[in-house]
Amino acid sequence: MNIPFEKVIDTIHSVRYGGLPTHYPSITSWDLSGENFNLLSLWDKKFKSESREPLGLYINIPFCRTRCSFCFLDVMCDLKKIDEYMDLLEKEASFFMPYRPSIDSVYIGGGTPNILSARNIERLLNIIHKNFNPVEKCEIIMESNPDFWDDEKLIKARAGGVSLIITGVQTFNLKQCRDLNRHQIKDPEKLLRKIKKYGFKLSVDLLAGISDPKTYSYDLKKIASVKPDQIHINRLKPVSGKYSQAEKKKLIGMQNAGFSYLESYGYSRIDEDSCSLARYNSGNVNVQGEPNYQIYSSIIGLGIGAMGHIFSCCRYVNEANIKNYRMKIESNRLPSLRHIVLKEKEEIIHYFLVNIGLKGVHISDMKKKFSPKAVSMILKKASVLRAKGLICSKGGYFKVNGDAPDFFSITKILYQRKYMAKIAERYGLI
Ligand code: SF4
Repeated sequence: MNIPFEKVIDTIHSVRYGGLPTHYPSITSWDLSGENFNLLSLWDKKFKSESREPLGLYINIPFCRTRCSFCFLDVMCDLKKIDEYMDLLEKEASFFMPYRPSIDSVYIGGGTPNILSARNIERLLNIIHKNFNPVEKCEIIMESNPDFWDDEKLIKARAGGVSLIITGVQTFNLKQCRDLNRHQIKDPEKLLRKIKKYGFKLSVDLLAGISDPKTYSYDLKKIASVKPDQIHINRLKPVSGKYSQAEKKKLIGMQNAGFSYLESYGYSRIDEDSCSLARYNSGNVNVQGEPNYQIYSSIIGLGIGAMGHIFSCCRYVNEANIKNYRMKIESNRLPSLRHIVLKEKEEIIHYFLVNIGLKGVHISDMKKKFSPKAVSMILKKASVLRAKGLICSKGGYFKVNGDAPDFFSITKILYQRKYMAKIAERYGLI
């Protein structure tokens, strides 16, 4: 088959799913999970194996009061459904109770998890502790909107072990928020300081491109004065379609300028979209936001639309609507909608693809994580990339060549043809 690489790679990169990086193999090539796909038995095998990689828990709370006009997530604004959802979530979590696996990181994302009442925040954290065993240093992370916190919720979150709060301010400009159909309290700064007083680590999101340059500078100054442990500057993404190159360049420029400005306040960049205060430089406070964690770990995904990963076995995503989610839970099944079966080969290609676009690939690190057979396979691919001048190597380390690396050609060489062909057929690209 003649694969239209450009169209396929474009399709892969056009996926917007929960802000996660495009998985390899891309979600566009995953299969529907039929009756025969028994996810719990795969987890059972995993828990009984001697796996070395970390284990995380991701819980999706898909509710928001209103839908921001720039949001591309599947959110539910019918808050009357929250109690039913909590019941289903509790049942889904209970499938793991017989194992009560040790968890080294918990991420409660959404939607807006702190839209839950104080009683439901307490309930959620009890569900986690009853069915899973967060290890002593486990980071319990909760996403939030500053608008929905109050003292009672903060107290319940702290008591239930939440250690890091991520909160999306996006901009301090209230008029701008209103124009974008976004809830924002009058004084987010006061709330951010209160979160810190309660003893949480704090991570704040800003959105480059949401406002004019003057407001953006104001937002940066204001956020720096609060000194959160971590700051994300995301780029405003088109809800449908894609950026023009000029628009993308402009937003990257705004992001870079923002991070340079924050350097004078003691922040260092840790990845494309984030920076953190010096004391956190040795590790990303948002554990599951770290691309390498998403690659080299297993993650139990709970809730509508949650993604999960059983290392060297499969990736999956849960049912996207409450009706199907309920139906599967009530028939005592884990509610996976789609999945892709993985072997170590897929894992190491994913590892290489992501890291070559970040800080480069260290052969010694690869050797710690993967078998000699997998490393030897990827080194052959790396030789091809090097021969074509796409990457270079120095002292056991690969990195991309030049300031404007050719990621299209790199992807084309690393991606297995079988997935490219599947996407081309599925999306009618041939
Ligand atoms: S608060 Fe966040 S998740 Fe909810 S609609 Fe707005 S951007 Fe989307």
